[in-house]
Order: sequence, then structure tokens, then C-alpha cells
Amino acid sequence: MAVSEHVDLPRFIEGVKKRNPGQDEFVQAVTEVAEDIFGFMADKVKYHEAQILRRIAEPDRVISFRVCWEDDKGNIRVQRGWRVQNNNSIGPYKGGIRFHPSVTESVLKFLAFEQTFKNALTGLPMGGGKGGSNFNPKGKSVNEIMRFCQSFMTELYRHIGADVDVPAGDIGVGGREIGFMFGQYKRITNNFTGVLTGKGLEWGGSLIRTEATGYGAVYFLQNMLKTKGDSLEGKTAVISGSGNVATHAAEKIVALGGKVLTLSDSEGFVHDPDGITQEKIDWVKEHKTHRRGRISDYAKEFKGASFHGGGARPWGVACDVALPCATQNELNGEEAKTLLKNGCIAVSEGANMPTDLDGVHIFKAAKILYAPGKASNAGGVAVSGLEMSQNSARISWKEADLQQQLLDIMEGIHSRCLEYGSDGKGYTDYVKGANIAGFKKVADSMLAYGV
Ligand code: GLU
Repeated sequence: MAVSEHVDLPRFIEGVKKRNPGQDEFVQAVTEVAEDIFGFMADKVKYHEAQILRRIAEPDRVISFRVCWEDDKGNIRVQRGWRVQNNNSIGPYKGGIRFHPSVTESVLKFLAFEQTFKNALTGLPMGGGKGGSNFNPKGKSVNEIMRFCQSFMTELYRHIGADVDVPAGDIGVGGREIGFMFGQYKRITNNFTGVLTGKGLEWGGSLIRTEATGYGAVYFLQNMLKTKGDSLEGKTAVISGSGNVATHAAEKIVALGGKVLTLSDSEGFVHDPDGITQEKIDWVKEHKTHRRGRISDYAKEFKGASFHGGGARPWGVACDVALPCATQNELNGEEAKTLLKNGCIAVSEGANMPTDLDGVHIFKAAKILYAPGKASNAGGVAVSGLEMSQNSARISWKEADLQQQLLDIMEGIHSRCLEYGSDGKGYTDYVKGANIAGFKKVADSMLAYGV
């Protein structure tokens, strides 16, 4: 085999930028990973020779399709849909579907790339993928959402399969949308398989899948605190978002004796100095998820809480721990500094890439407990993996078994991060640990297959 030229980090990033013009999110995600992997690969010629990182940073496939649907007024609407199949070296492509106006090819490529590392970290056999559309579910009727999901699946079905590519939910795609898409897949193919995860319990879904991402992010935080002999008891937490991930993270923090101060949505955040209790979280779940309400209504419902509008983010509220659970790039360098100044000791990301590159560098330099989403939010996809196993075996596991498996998986991810991210002097760079541990597994599989 001819020996490929060794490229250094700046040249590698230059190449990624050149090959992906205008795809800022994708370049950002690859840069963050490459910064750690180049150090790790320094003396490992085999990875360079096989151009492994270059290959992981080039999706296997980007499938792009038109989605036509009819709105309630009879207008024909046209949207773009995508499925990015990033890498299937360690298992079928696996990752969510996002419906949000901010979705672009770049966003889905970054998410599929991150998913590849995240899925490897879970220890389960899943490759990385992501899909979605710029369709905005906000303000749409249930019938419109159903028609959109059906049209989306009419295009997507030919590219997926229980052993090929297994989508799930993400922003804008919950149990209801998975139902519409699974129904359409079944109608077209006449196949009842585990082709999607996040299904309803009556038709092949798994217990605790809904809770898993938020709970997992808190378990990871607990594991980090434990390395310092600390716990969540009595800690104040600032959380962004108010969807599935944020509300379940809040729920677990409260259960473990912490006090949740904030939740947010795209319009702003609520600050409740008395603490967002389980009862209040239940109200948010009902109001946001089922009634599709806004978080601003929280301040009208609960005395003592204040709403900060104009898209304000909660990072200025003093806290011990922070959990960004909304979306990408929702926490920048300045906000990272503010959190540190106010005494924040740990950050556990429930969203994917919520901290921008400046913020990541600031958290790393301050040597706080900082968990990147690809490690800390992996609980969701991990339970998706367990749903796939149950579907293949045509069985359903009990809740207690699944709870234990989720705890074990999060602990396993934490130890893998320690193994590759600890400096041996008491500091763990969890970003580096996650990147290297995830990379190594995928890279070694790719080496086994040849080119
Ligand atoms: N969308 C979730 C994630 O970002 C879950 C993906 C899945 O369950 O496949 O990991």
C-alpha cells in the first residue's frame, strides 16, 4: 500500500474548510475533534497512513430529497429533506431526525459526525447518521404534521432498514412524529421491524427511552462530581431548553437533591429562585409538549418566577452546575466566562455541540468538569440501541433492567473519557477523552476492513 502524505492540523482544517464551503457547523465539529485526535495520532503512523480522520470527516453518503406536502388550506408546500449516513464501521447508521427551520446540510453533517463518536462511546454496535428537514412544525396542525411525516418517509424509506440505518427523534420529532413515520414505513414496505427507535410502548418501543437523554446527562454529571468526592445534593443548576431533554434533566437533578433555577425556549428563559420542583416540571411538560405552549407562561403560573425575553439565555444566573439542553451554539465564550465568574464548577451538555469553540477552549483552560454532548447526552441513543436489541429479539425488558443498563452505560462512557482524557494529576479533559475513545473504536474497525 502506498504511504499517504502526513498532513498537520492546520492543513487538515484548511482542507476541511475548502471541501465544505459555507458549512460552518460541520467545520466547527470536525475542528474540535481534530484538535484532540492529531495529538493522539502523533506517533501512530497507521492512522495517518490510512487517512482515517479524513475518511470519518467525509460522510459515507449525503442523501438529499424533495418533500412535497399539502397544508390545510390546500396549498402545495415544498421542503428539502436529508439523511446523512456518516459512518457504519461499527454498526448500522443510527441517529435522530430533526425538523426545524435552522436545519441545513451543514447542521446535519455536523450532527451525523458527532453521532459517530457518541454512538461508539456507548459501547453498543451503532454507526453514526442524522437526518431532517427545514420544515417548521411550530403552528402546524396535527394533520399537516402527519402529511409532512408521511411524505418525508415516502422518500426516506428506501435508504433505511433495521440493519442499515435506524433513525429516531431529535428536535421537532417526538413520539407522535415517530408514529406517523413508522406507520408510513410499514404501509409502504409491509415490514414490521425496528427501523425507527423512540416508538410507542405498544408497538415496539422501549421503556425509559423518553427519559434517557436527560437522565443520562445528569448521571454523567454525577459521575464527574464523584471524582471530586462531590454530589448534586444542594447544588443549584441552570438548565436551558424546556423540551424532552431539559425537563428530564431537571427531573433527575431534583430527584438527586439539586435545585433547578431556569428553563428556556427560543423566546427567552424563566428564572425561578424558589426552584423548579417536580410539580412545576410536570406543568412544563404538559404545557410545552402536549399543549405546545411557551415557557414565558411559566412566570404567569408560578409566583416568584421571572421571564427574561428577547431570546435571552440563562447563563448569567449564578449556579453550581449548568446543563445546556437546547441546541447547537447556545453558549459562547463570553457566557462561558460569566458562568465561571459566578462559580459554576461543572457543565454537562444535554444538547449536541451547545458550546461554541471559544466556550470549549475557555472551559478546558479553566479545568472545570466539562462534559461534551457526545459523552453526556449519549443516554438517549444508548437506550435507542437497547430498543433495537429488544426489537431484534422480539422481547421487552423491564424498567428496572433498563434503568440499570442506562446507569451502567453512562458510567462506562465516563470511564472511557477518564482513560483517554485524564492528565494523571487530577484533571480530566472530557472532550479529549470522548474524542479519542470514540475515534479509536471506529478507526480500528476501519483499519480492519482495509480501503
Ligand atoms: N437525537 C438523539 C441524539 O442526538 C438520539 C438519537 C437516537 O436515538 O438515535 O443522540
